[in-house]
Amino acid sequence: MDPIADFDLTPFNTMGLAARARFGALVTDSAQLSDLSRFAASVGLPLHVIGGGSNLVLRDVVEAVVAVMGTKGRSVDTTGHTIRVTAAAGEDWAELVGWTVGQGFGGIENLALIPGTVGAAPVQNIGAYGLELADRFHALTAWDSVDSTLRTFNRDECGFSYRQSVFKQHGGRFVVLDVTLDVPRQWTPNLGYAGLDTLPPTASPAEVMERVVAIRRSKLPDWRVLGNAGSFFHNPVVDAETAAAIAAVPRYPQLDGSVKLSAAWLIESVALKGHRIGNAGIYDKHALIVVNHGGATYAEVAELADLVRSTVSGRYGIALTQEPFVL
Ligand SMILES: Cc1cc2nc3c(=O)[nH]c(=O)nc-3n(C[C@H](O)[C@H](O)[C@H](O)COP(=O)(O)OP(=O)(O)OC[C@H]3O[C@@H](n4cnc5c(N)ncnc54)[C@H](O)[C@@H]3O)c2cc1C
Repeated sequence: MDPIADFDLTPFNTMGLAARARFGALVTDSAQLSDLSRFAASVGLPLHVIGGGSNLVLRDVVEAVVAVMGTKGRSVDTTGHTIRVTAAAGEDWAELVGWTVGQGFGGIENLALIPGTVGAAPVQNIGAYGLELADRFHALTAWDSVDSTLRTFNRDECGFSYRQSVFKQHGGRFVVLDVTLDVPRQWTPNLGYAGLDTLPPTASPAEVMERVVAIRRSKLPDWRVLGNAGSFFHNPVVDAETAAAIAAVPRYPQLDGSVKLSAAWLIESVALKGHRIGNAGIYDKHALIVVNHGGATYAEVAELADLVRSTVSGRYGIALTQEPFVL
C-alpha cells in the first residue's frame, strides 16, 4: 500500500489541532503494517501507529509515517468459565462497551464513553470509575515492529499499572492488533465510586453504564464541540511527608504508603483554571483538561502545559507529568 504524502491529521485528533504528517495511511488490514514499516525505513522516518487520536498532542508537522488503525471485528466466546470478548484494534472502545452491555454482559460498563480505539486501551491501561482495563484483560495480539512477528501477551506480560504498560515503555515497538477481555459470568456492579454509590446493588449493567455516561457528560467537555484530550496531567504520586505539607489537597493513599494527589486541585489552587494562552486554555469547569477554544496551535498548547508544570512545581515542588503523547 502506498501511504499518502502530506497527510492531514486534523480529523484524527480530538484536540482538533491542525496537523499534517509527512506520510499517512488508514490501516484496514494488519498485514499492511509490514509494508508501511518498509516504506518508513526507505524514506528514513519512524512509523507511528495511532487510533482515535484522543490521547495525542500533534506538532504542526509530524515527521513520521503515521498509520491510523482502522481494522474492525468483534466476537464473543461463551463456552468457557468466563465470557471472552475479542475486538480488533481499530474498533471504537465506547461502542464495544455499548455492544457488550447491549448483549446483557456486565464487566466493562464503568469504562463507558472513554474515547479512542480498542488497540490503544492497553497502552495506558485506561481507567475510570473504579475500574481499569487490566481488571478485565485476558490477552492481546501484537505485531512486533522490530522483527515483524506476531506475539501474544497475557496480563502479566503487559506490565499494567496506573496508566502504564510495557507498550508505553517500549515506545511504539508493539502494535496491538486485537484485545481479548474476560467478562465475568457472576457479575456484580462496581458501585464504589462517587456518583455510582447511589445506585441500588440490583442495578443492571445498562443502568450502571447510563449513570457513568451521564456523569461523564456533566463533567467533561465534548471534544467534538471543544477540542481536548481528556486529563492532560497524571495525578502525581508523592511520599506521605510531601502530601502532609499540602493540607487541603484531595488525596488517595496507596498500598505502598505513597499518596496520590489530585492534579486538578493543584492546578486550580495556583489560579490557572480558565487561564488561556492564545486559543489554548485550561477548561474553566475542570482544571485537569486543556481545551482548544478554536484554532489553537501546538505552540500554544505546549506553552500552556509548561506554565502549568512550572507554576505547580514552583509552589509545591511537585513535578506534573503530561498524559497525552506528543507526536
Ligand atoms: C474527553 C476525553 C475523556 C477521556 N477519558 C479518559 C478516561 O476516563 N480514562 C482514560 O484512561 N483515558 C481517557 N481519555 C484518554 C483516551 O481516551 C485514552 O487514552 C484512549 O485509550 C486513547 O485511544 P486512541 O485510540 O484515541 O489513542 P491515540 O490517542 O490515537 O494514541 C494514544 C497512544 O497509543 C498508541 N496507540 C494507538 N493505537 C495503538 C495500537 N493499536 N497499538 C499500539 N499502540 C497504539 C499511540 O501510538 C499513542 O502513543 C480521555 C480522552 C478524552 C478526549
